[in-house]
Amino acid sequence: MAAQLGNENAVTGARLQLVACGRDLLARGLLSQTSGNLSVRIDEDTLCITPSAMPYDQIEAGDIVVTDARGNVRSGTRRPSSETPLHCLVYASRPDVAAIVHTHSPHATTLAVLGLPIPAVHYLIAVTKTTLIQVAPYATYGTDELARNVRAAFGAPARAVLIANHGVVTAAPTLAEAAGVAESVETLAGLYYRALAVGKPLILSDEQMAQVLAKHEHY
Ligand code: 13P
Ligand code: ZN
Repeated sequence: MAAQLGNENAVTGARLQLVACGRDLLARGLLSQTSGNLSVRIDEDTLCITPSAMPYDQIEAGDIVVTDARGNVRSGTRRPSSETPLHCLVYASRPDVAAIVHTHSPHATTLAVLGLPIPAVHYLIAVTKTTLIQVAPYATYGTDELARNVRAAFGAPARAVLIANHGVVTAAPTLAEAAGVAESVETLAGLYYRALAVGKPLILSDEQMAQVLAKHEHY
């Protein structure tokens, strides 16, 4: 009974967090209209995920869908995001994360269109816990194939991966962190894009990045 109540409180909290985060990312220009989706893992068999095809400024707490770990709807009146299979598969393979943010943010998606992984153009890449943000191969949105492609390119401890011709996925222990990584990836992508437009970007060495990653553990 106490555990069930705790779970219900966690679901209520996650619904509010997802609504607020969607609006915040919309205001920051990382999300637009209905593109992208967000989720939070409550426990090993409970996820809260944004509804499919609803504009972020119209989503209310009651529109957030609760599913099991396989994406079967437990409660909610809306259809869960079409990328629910992707969210489920990433959670299944990444016990270290409990929140996922998927966006089509402009610069990250531009590099994804070019099939370009993002290298260490700035030390800020440390927030992704990797020195090269990989590109998962393209597959139709919402398919199990896309979910498998993202999972394969998204090995721990990486917190971000691009999807070719589509967008970017970030994952972290909390929704605030996953959203922060999404914003940092967009910043990095913008820097890389602008640097590529005028010259040959300098890339930080493995040694330089090892120092940043060690320092960032205590940031
Ligand atoms: P949903 O509205 O179904 O979440 O789809 C948006 C999207 O970005 C698909 O990749
Ligand atoms: Zn998408």
